[in-house]
Amino acid sequence: MFGLMQDHPLLISTIVCHAARHHGGNEIVSRSLDGSLHRQDYVTLERRARRLVRVLQALGVEPGDRVATLAWNGFRHVELYYAISGMGAVCHTVNPRLSNDDIAYIMADARDVLLFADLTFAAAIAAAAPNCGGSVRAVVFLCDRAEMPETKLPPGMALLCYEDLMAAADEDFAWPQFDERTAASLCYTSGTTGRPKGVLYSHRSTLLHAYALNSANVMGLRSHDRVMPVVPMFHVNAWGLAYGALMAGASLVMPGRHLDGASVAGLMNAERVTFSAGVPTVWLGLLHHLRASGERLHTIRRLAIGGSACPPALIDAFDREYGLTLEHAWGMTESSPLGTYNTPFTVEGESDAAALARKARQGQAIFGLDIRIVDDNGVPQPHDGIASGNLQMRGQWVAAAYYGNPPGSALDAEGWFTTGDVATIDADSSMEITDRSKDVIKSGGEWISSIALENIAVSHPDVAEAAVIAATHPKWDERPLLLVVPKAGRTLEPADVLRVYDGKVAKWWLPDAVVVVEELPHTATGKLSKLTLRQKYRGYLVDQTQM
Ligand code: AMP
Repeated sequence: MFGLMQDHPLLISTIVCHAARHHGGNEIVSRSLDGSLHRQDYVTLERRARRLVRVLQALGVEPGDRVATLAWNGFRHVELYYAISGMGAVCHTVNPRLSNDDIAYIMADARDVLLFADLTFAAAIAAAAPNCGGSVRAVVFLCDRAEMPETKLPPGMALLCYEDLMAAADEDFAWPQFDERTAASLCYTSGTTGRPKGVLYSHRSTLLHAYALNSANVMGLRSHDRVMPVVPMFHVNAWGLAYGALMAGASLVMPGRHLDGASVAGLMNAERVTFSAGVPTVWLGLLHHLRASGERLHTIRRLAIGGSACPPALIDAFDREYGLTLEHAWGMTESSPLGTYNTPFTVEGESDAAALARKARQGQAIFGLDIRIVDDNGVPQPHDGIASGNLQMRGQWVAAAYYGNPPGSALDAEGWFTTGDVATIDADSSMEITDRSKDVIKSGGEWISSIALENIAVSHPDVAEAAVIAATHPKWDERPLLLVVPKAGRTLEPADVLRVYDGKVAKWWLPDAVVVVEELPHTATGKLSKLTLRQKYRGYLVDQTQM
């Protein structure tokens, strides 16, 4: 017997309709490329999204077509999210931090038909355009006529102006109903190994992920929140915030391209931001700015942090010095991205050190997604906080296959997706990432966590950033090598850096050498590029012994 309830498909257009109908006075505030602020309420956003569908249709876009964006967080990018998916086409967010070669590759792989881009990327587009497979019919710059650049494009690719097209279009479009499993957006993984791979989200997975984002254990947004996604809309759909905020009716404050500490702090205060989300590098930049300038943050109390491991020292500093809670989240492109969340709570009698260690874990699985750890033979490991294993996940918003591959091809026989992360899960089901599986250090057959060593290194007062990699060792196979970047104006002595580990790790975990460098390489999504570091420093310890 079936239930007798109404059955409406879970469609992305329903989110923007809800925001316009029930929270129409709430707004999206965007910092433009020139630094000025643009404001638009949700009634206008929904109307312009419908007008944009007419633009897409006039340019020949059909349901199922892929339409690319190369843009910062701003109101036009949000209009594109809702218009493209809402009409049944696929919004392909391209990460501008990829190389021009990778940009061309993923646009050719997706067979994008149009590209909507911010002016910042005019040069990158001119470089990538001849190699992006010939399917792109036009590049539409997200600007007024007066701002249009003179980008040279290959024959057959038109150069168009967004606001011109919008001015000429009607708003008479009505959002269609279709199967909720229809593809809605496409995001390529950052490609730390090999070519980027596409993850194709559906309307259903996007809505369920947004509901989960808004549950109290997770980001729990409310209609009076003012939410600033610092995480870019080209990195896993800004972690779902462009959907989750509108679903809650919360206002959005979009920082555009200015993501340095001073710009972020200024916008947070000016626009009374109550919640924000970003990667550790961004929050580290904010902390440095606050300390150097003496500026305080007046309205924000919670910051979600993820994308890379959050050093406990960062959680501690924001908490003690600014009364701000850092909420540690873990996920990946393949999980839309939210997988686990460390919900803040207090435990009576818990020591400061124990509380900090607890907050620094990546947290518990979010309802709708399950996790487990397995050994190299696929045997599940206990959740005792000691056993570590390969982290697997399965759930409503987890990829089953990469774009272009057969359904289910990314899963094992039981339907689990292997994340490539190594983790422990404790008795309270709180998960801690110890490494990417290809980054673990295997010393004499025992594992050493590079993340744990990095987190301790950055607690040194003069260390700005740290990376630990496995270096080849004649006796132990691999030993940890620590690379550190000094803070501006400071110098670092290897022996002094190593003293920071006193009493914090077993002696055999101590890095064998410390290399002081000016900067560390990063991937397109801001993660340390350990691949590059390994290529350069893998033989460092062997070379040293031979010298
Ligand atoms: P991406 O698909 O680019 O979002 O990268 C996903 C990967 O980033 C994960 O598989 C992890 O290796 C890493 N990652 C994401 N969040 C965290 C976190 N909170 N702590 C440690 N690593 C993380």
